[in-house]
Amino acid sequence: MSRPVQYNAKIKTVEAPEGMMGDGFMATSLEKVVGLARKNSIWPLPFATSCCGIEFMATAASHYDIARFGAERMSFSPRQCDLLMVMGTISKKMGPVLRQVYLQMAEPRWVLSVGACACSGGIFDTYSVLQGIDQIIPVDVYVPGCPPRPEAIIDGFLKIQDLVGEESLRRRNSDKYKDLMQAYGIQ
Ligand code: SF4
Repeated sequence: MSRPVQYNAKIKTVEAPEGMMGDGFMATSLEKVVGLARKNSIWPLPFATSCCGIEFMATAASHYDIARFGAERMSFSPRQCDLLMVMGTISKKMGPVLRQVYLQMAEPRWVLSVGACACSGGIFDTYSVLQGIDQIIPVDVYVPGCPPRPEAIIDGFLKIQDLVGEESLRRRNSDKYKDLMQAYGIQ
């Protein structure tokens, strides 16, 4: 007779947001609930052009397993994602394509710039390479390294989760955000 399998893995559940708790009830704000839901169900769009993309593949695979953070659902359509992960060297010819992808994403949207190339052009200080994607689209979190290890990519992703969880529902309608978009020529 086969014995039942013993599962010893510790399961970590998401903490409830701050609020008032009592016997059989909990009250919190809509903003905190929406933040909690959004940060734990991010749909990334991997925009990978070179070696940093390979590090991302390792991050998504079983050992590092980005699914642990609710982000296993990769999107290859800008219409169905909320996190643009830019990984690799972006040439000036590729710049308008990247910007187009960003523009096609619905709000709220976030951007994670992974690796030295995406952040600053990296070692490619040449006429053909964009010296940082923040020249054409706003970036929320930068991950340094050439290449960054999967741990660093996960660290950047966790910082994005913090931003997403704490973002005010009104931020995207604020003057400050509109000014930021205007600075990039985005309406
Ligand atoms: S930062 Fe380094 S590893 Fe990443 S794409 Fe550039 S050259 Fe490759």
